[in-house]
Amino acid sequence: MALEEMAVHFSKFNMIGGLCWKHLNVIDPVLHMYDSAVRNAHKIHNQEVHLGKEVTIIGVACFGKEELYSVLVAPTCKTEDAADMEVILAHAIECWDATGADTRVGPVWSFTTDGDTTCHAAGHRLFLKHPLSINSPLYAILSDMPWLNTFTGDSKVTLDFNFKHIFKHK
Ligand SMILES: [Zn+2]
Repeated sequence: MALEEMAVHFSKFNMIGGLCWKHLNVIDPVLHMYDSAVRNAHKIHNQEVHLGKEVTIIGVACFGKEELYSVLVAPTCKTEDAADMEVILAHAIECWDATGADTRVGPVWSFTTDGDTTCHAAGHRLFLKHPLSINSPLYAILSDMPWLNTFTGDSKVTLDFNFKHIFKHK
């Protein structure tokens, strides 16, 4: 999703926002002193950290419900590669489990991406890792289906692609 490229000040936290998540580690976004603001402005000017052009969004939908709940909205400079995306997707799932959402709401069992090739590559790395076990109750049903990819990620999370984006490529 496109984003207006600008730095913003979150007065409640006295922090800078609107900068790319990949390079945010090169600055301290908290404005401790005047020098903090000047230092951060120089790093933005020198392209060490960038104003976000778009946002990376991860939303959660519960099976059978219409609502989509955002769990991550982070500005991006679009320089991240599949390895960076793999880290952020895996971290999102770790946080889901660490906060207890897996028991209160439900475990993550499927992950869908849009048409972004970086997300596709990260999805393949994370969610096409393990072949369906011969001990799985589904094995007898699914193993006879030719061309069906039965690989999953950790905890048997399956990979999917948003159907609107699949149709767009056809
Ligand atoms: Zn950046």
